[in-house]
Amino acid sequence: MTENIRDTVILGSGCAGLTAAIYTARANLKPLVLEGHEPGGQLSITTLVENFPGWPEGIQGPELVENMRKQASRFGAEFRLGHLATADLSRHPFALNLGNETIHARTLIIASGASARWLGLPSEQALIGHGVSSCATCDGFFFSGREIAVVGGGDSAMEEALFLTRFASKVTLIHRREHFRASRIMLDRAIAHPQIELLTNAVVKEVLGVERKEVTGVRLLDTVTGVESVLDISGLFLGIGHIPNAAMFAGQLDLDEDGYIKTHSYVFTRVPGVYACGDVQDRRYRQAITAAGTGCMAALEAEKYLEEHGR
Ligand code: NAP
Repeated sequence: MTENIRDTVILGSGCAGLTAAIYTARANLKPLVLEGHEPGGQLSITTLVENFPGWPEGIQGPELVENMRKQASRFGAEFRLGHLATADLSRHPFALNLGNETIHARTLIIASGASARWLGLPSEQALIGHGVSSCATCDGFFFSGREIAVVGGGDSAMEEALFLTRFASKVTLIHRREHFRASRIMLDRAIAHPQIELLTNAVVKEVLGVERKEVTGVRLLDTVTGVESVLDISGLFLGIGHIPNAAMFAGQLDLDEDGYIKTHSYVFTRVPGVYACGDVQDRRYRQAITAAGTGCMAALEAEKYLEEHGR
């Protein structure tokens, strides 16, 4: 067991986890980063990041996370492709079960982020990978010259719709309300785009094409008139937000009603030595720069904790 005790283990390799890795590695804590299901996090499947300070022309999301990873590696962070099956935070060092091995950690930084939300329709689930996708940058290419739709009314949906106009001949943006959650600049870009059509007060009731194993359309409900209609499309992209990856800590840490880890004083959880940063604890800002900021805070607190406990 002794060999397996690490000063700091970081769960997740998105913006928050990598920033925590840079700081803890530079403090010589030799952090172990468990990269999780989606190495690089949400930035690794996005396109141009225009609002990360220091990049006046913007930077591609995958390049930004790759740079952070290199920076953390330079200071000695260790990366492992693995994810947490279960954790026991009632003992110290904390026991982290990866399925085939258990790692013990004196401090734990949870930066496991959030994963795409789905509508939850059986027809949608049946057609994932057959025309239904939650990642425009991954799958947009397959829809060259086709008509597709994006669901959602936030920045993610706008970003996806705008990106997909590179491939699709027409993108219908389906939103369940009249008002949009998206920032003005993103919404204005979508409204102004000749290939994008906005459809409001519309809910997807069913994705059509299950028997053919390819999306042929969606059955829509107009929430104002109650009238149903069919929109013929070849692809459906979901841009309806994310769910925090924190379920494995239920019962051990405080989670809010939507499953986000509750923190106080920015990154402290209710267990001393366990910190949460980035999208797994932030339901309000959810930006790359705020994730990086809380990743830095978690690292500094882990360092302080270890120092206070004689490391
Ligand atoms: P979001 O802001 O939470 O928006 C989610 C959208 O999906 C909302 O419009 C919501 O509708 C809709 N929605 C949720 N569940 C639905 C369901 N079951 N059926 C139909 N529609 C549903 O999430 P987000 O767009 O992923 O953005 C998250 C954060 O990341 C935001 O802070 C955003 O600013 C940021 N972000 C920024 C950029 C950028 O600056 N380039 C890009 C992407 C994301 P309602 O409005 O009716 O609730």
